[in-house]
Amino acid sequence: MRTVPMGGEAVDVSGKACLCRVDFNVPIKDGVIVDDTRIRASLPTIRCLMEGGAKVVLISHLGRPKGKVVESLRMDPVAGRLSELLGVHVKKLDDCIGEEVEEAVRSMKPKDVLLLENVRFYPEEELNDREFAKKLAAPFDIFVNDAFGTAHRAHASTVGVAQFLPAYPGCLMKRELEALEKLLRSPEHPYVAVIGGAKVSDKLGVLENLLDKVDSLLIGGGMANTFLMAQGYDLGKSLCENDKKEDALRVMKKAQELDKQLLLPVDVVVAERPEPGVPVKVVRPDEIPEHMMVLDIGPETRREFSRVILQARTVFWNGPMGVFEVEQFSGGTLEIAAAIAQVEGFTVVGGGDSLAAVEMAGCADKISHLSTGGGASLEFLEGKELPGVKCLRGTR
Ligand code: ADP
Ligand code: MG
Repeated sequence: MRTVPMGGEAVDVSGKACLCRVDFNVPIKDGVIVDDTRIRASLPTIRCLMEGGAKVVLISHLGRPKGKVVESLRMDPVAGRLSELLGVHVKKLDDCIGEEVEEAVRSMKPKDVLLLENVRFYPEEELNDREFAKKLAAPFDIFVNDAFGTAHRAHASTVGVAQFLPAYPGCLMKRELEALEKLLRSPEHPYVAVIGGAKVSDKLGVLENLLDKVDSLLIGGGMANTFLMAQGYDLGKSLCENDKKEDALRVMKKAQELDKQLLLPVDVVVAERPEPGVPVKVVRPDEIPEHMMVLDIGPETRREFSRVILQARTVFWNGPMGVFEVEQFSGGTLEIAAAIAQVEGFTVVGGGDSLAAVEMAGCADKISHLSTGGGASLEFLEGKELPGVKCLRGTR
């Protein structure tokens, strides 16, 4: 008997029909997958199940079809790319429940891989409908969830099916949990969190929870604007959440009370618009022209942030330091990425745009853990228990 390790158990999967929830929510443009990172990230689990002799049936959501069949959101391009990556033909079905699926699963041989249709074509998925979950689970012997990115939502294909099948975490899920748990429970110090991105409101819970754990909190990106505004600076046309002033003040006060270092930009790159080719200036926060917007952190801020980062033994980074999609405003983000890549310690980067920035900086392989979890990673770091994790064996 060949077993595979799952959730701290040795599980015999040979000959078993395994429903494996993956996160194949990849960007697709004109039928072509623009970035296959998420597909590649699921390969260890798929290969592990194949090696154990399971019949591997994959299920995922793609985009936001809102409970209806949307032709452009079918999983067909994913099946094609997955076949290439695995080197075996991955058959794809046009449904995820019903006779056709049951028949196809029955006729599978061990090590076969099958991909079901976009589970969000059914409104019951996001409602975590019990009957729907039962139908999803019907053809299978076990359930493996490798879609950490959706673990913060109780959906039929993440939580519902676990009522009907023995449920285990996949390799990616396991790795995500281990990395994020380390950030919360056993980080080596100095521990630095670098938080940026568009909005404070997205990440307030993370800021507050991490403040208890870290030694330094470095804030950049659009989020820093709200903090600067709260300190009384005039931000001109910058992205700024006026209704989050109190929250920003509370975070700064908490940092002070806990004697934590909280750094904001001391200089910023401004322009009239976040567009290529516009004239840019570097100014201090008290010099932001009223017709301009803050679009990146300035050179002095980059130096100071990098200095703090390079002394760290643990770094968590989420959120770009500027509008890095436009080359002129990518400098701060790329410099911070490069600094984190040099850290000799445990480094974690999370968030879709932040991961794209790390790729852009060419240093993805120098980061200890790239967290593909997005919102789920953030909720985990907020200290919340994730429904899609709680229902799996061996995850406490
Ligand atoms: P992640 O996906 O890594 O979690 P977010 O989605 O929170 O990051 O934020 C990324 C977005 O924030 C990017 O599209 C970037 O252009 C934007 N952004 C960063 N800094 C600014 C800024 N100063 N003004 C406006 N948008 C910004
Ligand atoms: Mg984003």
